[in-house]
Amino acid sequence: MRKGIDLQRKTPSDGRWPAGAVGRPAAVRMSVSLSGMAFVWLGLWLPLAWPVALAAEQADADRADRITQVSLINALMLGEYDGFVSLKDLLGSGDFGLGTLDRLDGELIVLDGAAYQARSSGEVVAVPPTATTPFATITPFEADGTIPCPKLASLEDLDQFLDERLPERNNFVAIRIEAGVASITLRSVPAQERPFKPLQVIARSQPIWTHRGIRGSFVGIRSPQWARDITVPGYHWHFLSADRRIGGHVLECQIQEGTIRFDVCGDWTVKLDRSAAFNDKDLSGDLREQVKQVESPRGEFE
Ligand SMILES: [Zn+2]
Repeated sequence: MRKGIDLQRKTPSDGRWPAGAVGRPAAVRMSVSLSGMAFVWLGLWLPLAWPVALAAEQADADRADRITQVSLINALMLGEYDGFVSLKDLLGSGDFGLGTLDRLDGELIVLDGAAYQARSSGEVVAVPPTATTPFATITPFEADGTIPCPKLASLEDLDQFLDERLPERNNFVAIRIEAGVASITLRSVPAQERPFKPLQVIARSQPIWTHRGIRGSFVGIRSPQWARDITVPGYHWHFLSADRRIGGHVLECQIQEGTIRFDVCGDWTVKLDRSAAFNDKDLSGDLREQVKQVESPRGEFE
């Protein structure tokens, strides 16, 4: 199309070529006809290509905005611990997220496209792509904004600080915080044996650790209150230290300073298990209190 613009500049106002400009018109004419052909070609295809291009652009935008969840929190609460989505598939839906692994074997942390398992022994290991998850949330993290994180005395203060700054209460928000912590209390859960006990029972004896003076990443998902029964409403935090050696589900923390980045996700996908075990469960009950006890800071459920 640039040739057309050049041509306009070179063409005399009466549409004729200056005398002496021998040899140029043929080349210019060729570019005219090429431009003309391009116009005809584009004219034929644009009406078809445009919607396709716009649809592809929209699909990219939707994907960037999509948060994908595996299973339902109520299914997990009732002991549906069999993984049914592979980590390979899960990582196809994003690079930032959290969850657990098959048989509730530790806490899952996905950061920068790498999956980590914080085991009940306290060690953090890489998760192979063949591993499966019974419950997870993941998104392609693309920050919509950054907020400096001040010194905060508790997890509750962090949640309150974010509530005041992120008004998108009825959307999902992925939140990444790079921070130094004065202290952080984490938990993980050992792999379960059949028959599986409800999560509320397991949480009573879960291994808990407190670490002091470390740096790392908070991987957080804030889910709307309307999504209760399906996911953990409010904030759900996992943590991975900068050296990738300490991690888990956050029960309490004192942040010294940090940087918060957030990604508002308005496109929610839930993947459901087709197994008979899943379909035989009564998932209509109100388990809000039990979910709160499992996700609460240390002490409340003791
Ligand atoms: Zn968790």
